[in-house]
Amino acid sequence: MNVALEVDLKRAMIALITMSAGCVDSASPMGTAEDPDPATLADIQTSPETSDVLPKAIYPAAELAHGPLATTTSLTPTAITYHGGPVMLGPTKTYMIWYGSWANNTAMTILPYLVTKLGGTPYFKINTTYGNATGGKVPNALAYGGAIVDSYSQGTTLTDQGVWKVVNGALAANKLPTDPNGVYVVLSSPDVAESSGFCTAYCGWHTYGYRNGTKLRFVFVGGAARCLSACAPQAISPNGNPGADGMASTLTHEIEETVTDPDLNAWFDAGGAENADKCAWKFGPTYATANGARANVKIGTRDFLIQQNWLNVGLGSCAMSY
Ligand SMILES: [Zn+2]
Repeated sequence: MNVALEVDLKRAMIALITMSAGCVDSASPMGTAEDPDPATLADIQTSPETSDVLPKAIYPAAELAHGPLATTTSLTPTAITYHGGPVMLGPTKTYMIWYGSWANNTAMTILPYLVTKLGGTPYFKINTTYGNATGGKVPNALAYGGAIVDSYSQGTTLTDQGVWKVVNGALAANKLPTDPNGVYVVLSSPDVAESSGFCTAYCGWHTYGYRNGTKLRFVFVGGAARCLSACAPQAISPNGNPGADGMASTLTHEIEETVTDPDLNAWFDAGGAENADKCAWKFGPTYATANGARANVKIGTRDFLIQQNWLNVGLGSCAMSY
């Protein structure tokens, strides 16, 4: 038992209450507990009672949130508050694991480009408004740590534990380094399901696990082309790949939450919503790109339509820059 467990239990209860009130635009830790001791993959694989207990914060699918590009009447903003856990002080590297079949898909160019250019932008700087109890702040920096391919090691239907196994498999094979400052992102191809609710309940999620005693943060980003109406904001997209462009917003959402709330016990509001949850599917002003798609930010030389993030200044607000 530890503080994180108590927080997660509390947050799970809050999430239940929130969902029963009809608001689903919030982080919803799916588990009710975490392993009280650092769990190795072997623990997870061999202990049925721990097979689905990782806490998890989700990015709601559009149909459950506000709908693509919908204008919404905002509820009274609820301040985001600090709950004592760590933030990621860096240097943070993002590692990508392309799961399934991605050959010849421009996602493999578009999304690494986004990750490479995201650090240092006015958009990512929003995360610097989050810190820890000793004055440490999330830096406006993010490095791309490289990518590997996993050709269906867990089949065509992933479970949450399967996603964790994909990460562990990459580390066990020394294809990626074991990096406690890392964010490991599993990106599934559109033919792959995630049985806990991809496309119906969420478009992505983030959580953490322990590998040989080292805490690692990992993210699932589903192939949005599987369900464009739920996980992509538009059918014609700035980079000519609606699935990849939809994943761009899910990816930034999960990275923002991971660096500010890596263990689900640092920054979230009274409803359990983390920073990006508070602005899910909100894009602010957009402009037309050459192909007729909408975009709201230029990252490097590419246009993107990615959701706003919660600027933690004063009462706070959704913003695209800081
Ligand atoms: Zn989220």
